[in-house]
Amino acid sequence: MDIKKLDKQYIASSYNRQDVAFVKGKGSYLIDENGKKYIDFGCGIGVNGLGHSNKKILKAVKGQLNKITHTSNLYYSEPQTKLAEKLCKISGLKKVFFANSGAEANECAIKCARKYSFDKYGENRNEIITLVNSFHGRTITTLSATGQDVFHTIFMPFTQGFSYVEANNLSSLESAITNKTCAVMLELVQGEGGVIALDKEYIAGLVKICQEKDILVIVDEVQTGNGRTGTYFAFEQYGFLPDILTTAKGLGNGLPIGACLLGEKLKDTLTYSSHGSTFGGNPVCCAGALATIEQIDDKLLEKVRQNSEKIFKTLSSFKKVKGVTGLGYMIGIEVEDAKSVLNACLEKGLVVLTAKTKIRLLIPLNILDADLNKGLSILKEILD
Ligand SMILES: *Cc1c(COP(=O)(O)O)cnc(C)c1O
Repeated sequence: MDIKKLDKQYIASSYNRQDVAFVKGKGSYLIDENGKKYIDFGCGIGVNGLGHSNKKILKAVKGQLNKITHTSNLYYSEPQTKLAEKLCKISGLKKVFFANSGAEANECAIKCARKYSFDKYGENRNEIITLVNSFHGRTITTLSATGQDVFHTIFMPFTQGFSYVEANNLSSLESAITNKTCAVMLELVQGEGGVIALDKEYIAGLVKICQEKDILVIVDEVQTGNGRTGTYFAFEQYGFLPDILTTAKGLGNGLPIGACLLGEKLKDTLTYSSHGSTFGGNPVCCAGALATIEQIDDKLLEKVRQNSEKIFKTLSSFKKVKGVTGLGYMIGIEVEDAKSVLNACLEKGLVVLTAKTKIRLLIPLNILDADLNKGLSILKEILD
């Protein structure tokens, strides 16, 4: 079967595929159709945080598949309620709406922020400030929220009510706030924008300004959540509690699931029929996500934080590396030509990603030391 030929003929051409088809995965390894093995430093864009074919997740998913695959949100669901309880206990937020992707979780966050403000202040307080260089998704509204002009060139008209301010600049935020502002939305580590962690003092200042004016802080942890940065959520390292938090990518370790978490102020904002999803909180995805969360424990997170420090040092020592950015196992490497580095890695059996002009590593959280070192030695061959 010629996968490449069929893909060209039948798949809409919105993706620029690498010249490889992975057919199997085990732990931190991927295997392509010719049987070649690769170390996976990409995790399917930060999704398979606990590696491929994770035994506990497979067991939970298969168990749920044998019971029931779908019921719809017309009925109570045990896996959904258990997962919501876990997410609230971990985060300190109060309620959860389940979606199927990051963009959908963000759509829910935007609707909730606007409804909170509508309920309390009436019609005209509905604007959301986001950051330049952010990424919030591909729907028309989340594209609108995304603070990059390249995403606003086609598909007009976009959803109104978004404005953009430079990251790490409090005075630009202060001058953008008006009496129509209802929320600020941001990634604590900008992922697609180039793996850039925001300054802690900036976030502290932003949170203070927002709290004083009852402006909601929405944190998009679609990529940074679920252990990626070395704490379960990245906000824990910034010392505040978001009003709304979204997450998706690593939540289901490969199953499509997103979540919008609502804090104290917003716990009663969604009322009957104000939002919904047919697939959201699907029992199979929730069972997989539960088995994922249960494995991202303090011991694993501690290891990610310790190893991360070593990885940053190692990468920074390579001659062709101009800088290393990010947090935990979410790492950006500044190089001359990221595309050619990515191709050289692939050739040598290492899967990496790019973000803007950087190489991006999203390393499996539970990678074995030996595999981590093997991956780093391939990067050394190419970058030192
Ligand atoms: C990937 C990503 C999204 C979009 O998620 P999808 O599941 O592709 O819709 C939104 N926000 C951030 C920060 C992301 O990294």
